This record gives sequence, structure tokens and C-alpha cells, in this order.
Amino acid sequence: MSHLDIFERRTYANNWRCKKKGVIGQITKEELKNLVENTSICSHCNKNIEKWSIDHKIPLRKGGFNIILNIQIICHNCNRDKERKDE
Ligand SMILES: [Zn+2]
Repeated sequence: MSHLDIFERRTYANNWRCKKKGVIGQITKEELKNLVENTSICSHCNKNIEKWSIDHKIPLRKGGFNIILNIQIICHNCNRDKERKDE
């Protein structure tokens, strides 16, 4: 296991991806942890989340910012479907 916890790694990966795309904003690991810990139901399919993913409510390609208010937690399956549609 890496010394970085999952929140740290996901935060870093998300911020890095957004920065690369020129998206405004940054989230912190504490913000993400808080959101994940308070989310048990996927925002897309309304099922219980087993493996979580970060989703931007207003998609980045539509001008959404990388701020915690624009972030929701979705399940791994929905995230996979989304990626398939996006790319
Ligand atoms: Zn889902």
C-alpha cells in the first residue's frame, strides 16, 4: 500500500487532470473525504455505492469548475459508463 490514503490519491489525480485541461479550481482531500463519508447513494443510479468515483455535476467540458460544490459521488459502474460516453 502507498503511504497516501485513497482520498489523497483521488484528490491529487482529480486536481491534476483538471489542471491539465485548464479547468479552474481545486479540491482538498478533506473536502472530498467529507463528501464521500456523507454519501451512500449514487447520484446517478440511486443504488448503494460500493466503489466510489468523483463526478463533476456540470461536466468539465461544459465549463464546470473543479470545486467541491460541483462535485458529486457516483458509483464505479456509472463512472465507467460515463467514461465510455465521453471518450
Ligand atoms: Zn451509480
